[in-house]
Amino acid sequence: MANKKKENQPLPKELFDILACPACKSDLNYTKDKGSLVCVKCKAKYPIKEGIPILLPKNKQ
Ligand SMILES: [Zn+2]
Repeated sequence: MANKKKENQPLPKELFDILACPACKSDLNYTKDKGSLVCVKCKAKYPIKEGIPILLPKNKQ
């Protein structure tokens, strides 16, 4: 019986497909080494915590 603990895995493709940068709506790149998402256009970086991407736009000022 395989009861291995889930390793850090990339986000499911279905989820990745609907993700977009909240700031400019561009695609996001998954950076495996840092476990975060980086916008291909504005280079904004979003962390992934416990498998959930935190896509919060920066505070508007
Ligand atoms: Zn962006």
